[in-house]
Amino acid sequence: MSAAPVRPFYVWWADADEARARDPELPDWLRVEFAMRSRVGGEHGHAPFAPGELAEILYRVDPDTGEITPATAEAVRKAIARARMRGAVHHDSTARCLIAPPSAFRSGPRVPACVHDV
Ligand SMILES: [Zn+2]
Repeated sequence: MSAAPVRPFYVWWADADEARARDPELPDWLRVEFAMRSRVGGEHGHAPFAPGELAEILYRVDPDTGEITPATAEAVRKAIARARMRGAVHHDSTARCLIAPPSAFRSGPRVPACVHDV
């Protein structure tokens, strides 16, 4: 019996993932996953965000006026909760730091410290 084949991995451009995260036509939980992917790094797979930054990335467009506003804190919380339920991000993820699920991440270069380091 042979061993299972090694699954390949790929390098994605962070800018492409962030563009997906900013696409209001995608479901919020998927936008959260793309936001994490656009920023993730380090040995621990954390993706830090400044206060309010994830809300800005998950912006809303008013269908009548075209006005763009950040997602509410509640919308951000729900989007992260759904991303957690789908296994798109680790269950310890927050709006200040999204964490890659260990099954989908291999360590890379270090990134700036995140809120989980304190
Ligand atoms: Zn963190």
